Amino acid sequence: MKQCINCMTRLPRKEVTEVAWCALCAPCLQIVSDQMKLLYDRPGGAPVQIHQCGWCGVSRSCGIGSRTRCLVCLDDRSVPDPAVQKIAHRLELDGTWRENSEFIAATTVKIRLAKYFQPGRTVLATDVHGLPWTGFRWLTKSHGTWGRNDETGEVQPLKRSRGEENLLYLVRYGKVLKFGRGNADRVGAHVSLGAVPVLVLSASGQEVASARDRLKRLHRTEMVSQRTPVDLFAVLPDGLDVTDQYQRH
Ligand SMILES: [Zn+2]
Ligand SMILES: [Zn+2]
Repeated sequence: MKQCINCMTRLPRKEVTEVAWCALCAPCLQIVSDQMKLLYDRPGGAPVQIHQCGWCGVSRSCGIGSRTRCLVCLDDRSVPDPAVQKIAHRLELDGTWRENSEFIAATTVKIRLAKYFQPGRTVLATDVHGLPWTGFRWLTKSHGTWGRNDETGEVQPLKRSRGEENLLYLVRYGKVLKFGRGNADRVGAHVSLGAVPVLVLSASGQEVASARDRLKRLHRTEMVSQRTPVDLFAVLPDGLDVTDQYQRH
């Protein structure tokens, strides 16, 4: 027996279909049959396709010939995942279970995309194993993050942007706070994906790394409720406040 990940019905193995790394029953498959539109087919000959959700506009990468669905949108047959509800509770989200799940998934996708922003590239799509159903499972399988080279127009796989991670930042996505370390591209990416910069401190890469580790020990995850006191100055007292450089224009 297999279980449909969307409605949790248990069915014989031959009655479920592999979709987006998971198994779906026929009625759940039907609901999303028109959801995704193909944007790029095998860019540069790579064994990947990029699809965009017609419901919410978020894109994802997918293997050739695989069925897929949106990383964010649930549907009328979806049932709540207790682990995601626990996260929603910890983040003090006050929507319906579905609104909360979709918010967590959308924010998870944005945080992933932000890691790939770099000058000269437009980030197009990523793939997070487990979404939209299982939230923060951080499974490692993925069809990669893809972007367009602004100069040549070529669609290519992107690497995580590196460079000196000399900023410790706190940004707000809707009703949650996210802290982290990164370079100017990373913080700029969060802002362009809709985050509000709360505080951005500059220091040496080493000081920022140990400050981030202390925050992570204190709060356990990098995404916390907006009422959580996240004190960047307590862990990075000599940090230089550069928040003004990241205001939205
Ligand atoms: Zn189902
Ligand atoms: Zn969607």
